Amino acid sequence: MTTLRRNGRKMKNRILAFAALLLLSLLHACEKPQQKLETEFIDLFDTVSQVVGYAADYKEFSTFTKQLHEALLEYHKLYDIYNSYEDVNNLKTINDNAGKSPVKVDKRIVELIIFSKKMHSQTNGLVNIALGPVLKIWHDFRTLAAENPNEAAIPEIELLKQANEYTNIEDVLVDEAASTVFLRYEGMSLDVGAIAKGYALERVCEAFEQAGYKSILINLGGNVRAMGAGQNDKPFRVGIKNPLGGKFLNIIAVRDCSLVSSGGYERYYMFNGRRYHHIIDPNTLCPSDYFEAVSVLCRDSALADALSTAIFIMDYESGLALINSLEGVEALWVMHSGEVKYSDGFKAFIVS
Ligand code: AMP
Ligand code: MG
Repeated sequence: MTTLRRNGRKMKNRILAFAALLLLSLLHACEKPQQKLETEFIDLFDTVSQVVGYAADYKEFSTFTKQLHEALLEYHKLYDIYNSYEDVNNLKTINDNAGKSPVKVDKRIVELIIFSKKMHSQTNGLVNIALGPVLKIWHDFRTLAAENPNEAAIPEIELLKQANEYTNIEDVLVDEAASTVFLRYEGMSLDVGAIAKGYALERVCEAFEQAGYKSILINLGGNVRAMGAGQNDKPFRVGIKNPLGGKFLNIIAVRDCSLVSSGGYERYYMFNGRRYHHIIDPNTLCPSDYFEAVSVLCRDSALADALSTAIFIMDYESGLALINSLEGVEALWVMHSGEVKYSDGFKAFIVS
């Protein structure tokens, strides 16, 4: 554990030292023309990520992206619920020890869980990282359908209800001082798919930003985070995917901002002509059916991630009320008809 903490500190120091160096080299590079550079990661959070940045040369950019990748990979391992890693206790370790014993973990796990508990209460329980047992059933049915579409089926409601007996977030016991997490009952499990990518991205970008780094746009599997603005301090332009296909819904101009979308159009399976996607309404224990997709725009990518999942599982009026109650948060909703609804302040970001 001490080693992990030390590694965490080391990583932050490395980022800070590196970013300071980078700033110097950026200052030096002012005379040189900045060019747009891009790279891709394929091993983070089971998704494809792109990074776009402006730098004087590729070496400078690739040194930065290497540091970024390392930092995100640490979070990926910590927040992994499917794989164990020799050198670290992660969320899978916590799940494996449900009902048995508290697990000592890196503080980045403790902080994620505390944030998730806060989002649980802010969303009236709709976003619940303790919903693991129910989500696992849907995950298994989705996997089965992907492997053999002829065997596609939906789970019995009784099975879902039994699993739901073990989804009370109050039974996720966090001891912040001891840095331990304990799931009170066997049968409980955490699933942080709704929040972890945004949370990890926010923490990593925050560390780079504190060191003064700017002009980077990261897309971590649909979670977009702009650090600063683009070339010549012009806002980055980001396209919002149309879940019904075709061109972008909108192009928006952003700086120091996150855009996170949730939808039923990417991870789903078909059964009896109906689409069963991966975002589950804790009230029905089934996929929600209000919208094709939603997007949330705000500075903090962790908040945007949690809120986009939340407003996908509530009706438009409740979602709009939640968004309007929060300072600096905007959203859009794509209805099944294709109509797009926007919160009041969203349109100010739209370029086309
Ligand atoms: P997102 O794409 O951010 O909306 O997150 C979707 C993922 O969150 C799913 O793949 C599940 O892992 C998880 N999830 C689905 N429904 C819920 C829910 N009601 N509360 C918390 N996590 C959920
Ligand atoms: Mg989310």
